[in-house]
Amino acid sequence: MNQEKLLLIPGPTPVHPRIVNALSQPTISHVSPIHVAELKEALANLKNIVFCQKGEPFIVAGAGTLAMEMALLNTVTKGERVLVLSQGFFGQRMEKIAQSFGLGCDLIQSEERKAVEPEVLRDRISQKNYTAVVATHVDTATGICAPVHEYASIINEFGPFFIVDGVCATGGIEERMDDWGVDVIITAAQKCFGVPPGLAVLVVSERVMKKRESMETIPAYYADLLNWLPVMKDPSKYFSTPCVNEVRAFNEGTKIMLEEGIENRFVRHIRIAQIIREKLLDLGFSFIPEDRYLADTLSVVRYPEGLEDEIFRKTFAENGVIVAGGLGHLAGKVFRMGHMGNLTSSQAYFALEALEKTLASIGYSGKLNPNAQ
Ligand code: PMP
Repeated sequence: MNQEKLLLIPGPTPVHPRIVNALSQPTISHVSPIHVAELKEALANLKNIVFCQKGEPFIVAGAGTLAMEMALLNTVTKGERVLVLSQGFFGQRMEKIAQSFGLGCDLIQSEERKAVEPEVLRDRISQKNYTAVVATHVDTATGICAPVHEYASIINEFGPFFIVDGVCATGGIEERMDDWGVDVIITAAQKCFGVPPGLAVLVVSERVMKKRESMETIPAYYADLLNWLPVMKDPSKYFSTPCVNEVRAFNEGTKIMLEEGIENRFVRHIRIAQIIREKLLDLGFSFIPEDRYLADTLSVVRYPEGLEDEIFRKTFAENGVIVAGGLGHLAGKVFRMGHMGNLTSSQAYFALEALEKTLASIGYSGKLNPNAQ
């Protein structure tokens, strides 16, 4: 049997025993009163997690990419344009989705180590008409956290819908849908919710639901919010078989979040991120984002010269901790360490001890590069 390792990749994240237990219960009918009650509770909890009172929540078998597709196809129609603010990698995915469906799309790529500056957004939307603006809150490839609250207030001055890709942020970093004027939050089960992968999760404003109703047909069937809406209102209705075990696990995940207190959860993410970053800096590592853009959900950590990616991650895993390699042009140059979901500070300290052990066993000790930037 494999010895269990601490999974600190940027999702899936470690799964709390209460969630594992929920997931392992016998499968029940998808129209049984128990499933109906569990999905209803999960939907209500989800709205509380994103501070939304009036919007419509959706929990559907799939993953974050399906949620991205659902958000776009139900908001923007042929002949309209969407603006994507990319802080690294996942904005490009949104652009590809728009292109796949023949939707007009412009992308603003942030400068290296930064998020897209709010003034760049203001300039653009004051000059060109967009139906929607999409921003990645935390880009999982770069570890850059975008100022989505500031984006929201600019976008609201001009009127487009604001879609936030919160896959690597929702439930770990503050997102206030109603107060900030966010129209869609896209997320997934496997990151800050701490639930195994398998769900596309969205919360959609009344404004977007009205837009969808006005569009008549859209190039989607499974991804059409109007096919799911009756099920979300009354989960005893059938559209496509829901993953009952995963919904139960997700519901348990949302209960854990609300028991902790969503604001306490944000504070815990900030605290654990600080502990991890301080240690990494102390050891001479550096981060991809500039300080003001550092995400509290994951760290994208640059290797000092001489530290080899594969050997480092393999040895770290032997010492009990799994971290991820870099994505795209950062492959081989960084490792990515998730610190989101239900991670405790003792798990974080365990990981940092394992990190020191790893460095010692591959021949590094003390400061790796005291001048690292
Ligand atoms: N957006 C962001 C910011 C992500 O980090 C990810 C997944 N890493 C996705 C979208 C896509 O989610 P999924 O892999 O669940 O399809």
